[in-house]
Amino acid sequence: MTVGDAVREAAQRLSATSDTARLDAELLMAHATGTTRSDLLMRHMREPAPTGFAALVERRSANEPVAHILGRQEFFGLDFAVTKDTLIPRGDSETIVQAALDHARLDARALDMGTGSGALLLAFLSARPVATGIGIDISSAALAVAQGNSETLGLQDRADFRVTSWLDDGWADDLGKFDLILCNPPYVEDDAKLDPDVRNFEPASALFAGPEGLDDYRAIAPQLGKLLLPGGIAVLEIGWKQAGAVSAIARESGFETELRHDLAGRPRALILR
Ligand code: GLN
Repeated sequence: MTVGDAVREAAQRLSATSDTARLDAELLMAHATGTTRSDLLMRHMREPAPTGFAALVERRSANEPVAHILGRQEFFGLDFAVTKDTLIPRGDSETIVQAALDHARLDARALDMGTGSGALLLAFLSARPVATGIGIDISSAALAVAQGNSETLGLQDRADFRVTSWLDDGWADDLGKFDLILCNPPYVEDDAKLDPDVRNFEPASALFAGPEGLDDYRAIAPQLGKLLLPGGIAVLEIGWKQAGAVSAIARESGFETELRHDLAGRPRALILR
């Protein structure tokens, strides 16, 4: 069977469980062939299909995310390693990075809370050559991925990572102060219906935040004031129905808020001043 035929057959099979079946099949085939998706489509479609492809399609049809099978995900034009210990960076979260780039000082010292793969912090630092930052996370396994990404992207001299839980007393006391705080906290309601791709494969600790999905905002907001330098801002990712509730939580801690939308036009980020 040719690469082209195998991709077509796989796309057909994956359409039962994936909304992006053809794309998934192409990405898996590019991975199995050791090439990029665009080279695959231009040069390799008539070659014999590689033997490893069927096993990758099998994994995807059991709902395993393509990013986990490939071990990577593109975010903000950069290539990030991801594992089951990190949330997979979403395109929607590029809204957070863009808001930070629009508002933060050129030489900002940034804190990324719940950094996971390091995507928000490292995307920001890669676009701001003299900025520096710290990423914190409750998961040391996630921070090992973030550290690896900082090295791959050549950002290891400007990014530090530290295991920290914002549920512990005094967690914010010895981090120092920052011009910019980035945070994509868990914000999914505990009983939300999620796709099996997400629910069965991504870390629950990065997703769920109590009955309303607001527990982590409530824990974080009262500490942000002491972490920010004068004139500093925090950019928080929010669920698209949470703008009002999270704004109210931020106002209780003395912040003014500004809403930003994602590319789909949905509320996605709050800037706190
Ligand atoms: N946007 C993610 C999802 O819907 C949730 C991310 C988060 O909780 N921070 O799967």
